[in-house]
Amino acid sequence: MVLLFCALIVTTSTPIPGTLDTTHSCGYCGEKAGVVLYSTDDITGKLYTINQCDRCNAYFLAPRPTPEQLGEAYQKEYYGKGEDKFKESWIENLLDKFRERRAKLITDHLDDTGKVLDIGCGNGTFLSLVNQHSKAEMHGIELPGGSAERAAKVEGINLKIGALEADDYEPNTFDAITLFHVFEHLDKPKETLDIITSILKPEGFLVMSFPNIDSWQSRLFKGKWFHMDAPRHLFFFTPKDFIDLMNEFGYDVIQEKHFNLEYNPYGTQQSILNALQKKREILYEVLKGNHHYADDYSKFNLFLQKFFFLSTGPLFILLDAIESLFKKGGTVEFVLKKRS
Ligand SMILES: [Zn+2]
Repeated sequence: MVLLFCALIVTTSTPIPGTLDTTHSCGYCGEKAGVVLYSTDDITGKLYTINQCDRCNAYFLAPRPTPEQLGEAYQKEYYGKGEDKFKESWIENLLDKFRERRAKLITDHLDDTGKVLDIGCGNGTFLSLVNQHSKAEMHGIELPGGSAERAAKVEGINLKIGALEADDYEPNTFDAITLFHVFEHLDKPKETLDIITSILKPEGFLVMSFPNIDSWQSRLFKGKWFHMDAPRHLFFFTPKDFIDLMNEFGYDVIQEKHFNLEYNPYGTQQSILNALQKKREILYEVLKGNHHYADDYSKFNLFLQKFFFLSTGPLFILLDAIESLFKKGGTVEFVLKKRS
């Protein structure tokens, strides 16, 4: 009876927004003090809160997911089934165009003797595109799993399967290091930034993109925001706080980009659908081929969601253009240069 009572207290006591939570540590700096902002959930229905750290200002997921929960969340459904993340080839073709643009961003800053490291290189598509435009030496790091296995088959990539560690590369090795939508997933972000800063050459380029917690879509949809992506996204910085952080690490910002066709319009569309439906990310999971996730939704409902996605696309592209003028795009990409 006592146990049952305790269990009831635990399951019914959700932290109240605005209160100080000293039981959960910050995903970036580890400080055990954060103000509870709002709640969010993952696709299994598990509840979390988003807290803001008292020390480093990061927004972080509380409680921190266990390794088992993360292992489950990174199962193959996350990356999609088979070779590609998305089932429909036109989506993959469109994504390839965006990957080409990213590759050009790097090759523009690189000569043929350069060395590039892509941290969280996925299946290696980005590096293979860089390879087509440049003779630079390609290095990639990816955690064990299906993506790493696919990357290992790509010619020209020196692949490390695992996490970045201090003794992986000599200091001042790389001319460019990239982390596309990887920073917010990192288990030890501070240590990783220290290693990156050591292995990047002076005046080398660091390219990082991540969800913008200060975007209009994040502020409007809060816990229902598509890019909140619990339990995989462990912390977020506003672009302003990120710039301050990177200045302290010895970098200058040379480009800050908010307009992003790959991530931003869909971010608003899926957030609207999340706000209207009981379960979140239904359309996204269906587009990835995870059909059983939508088993309790009718074909007509799914048709309407797809129709909404396709018919309102241009409108949300226009909205993204407006958001980016105010630096409020759903995701942000920085090109940083290490001071000499
Ligand atoms: Zn912190």
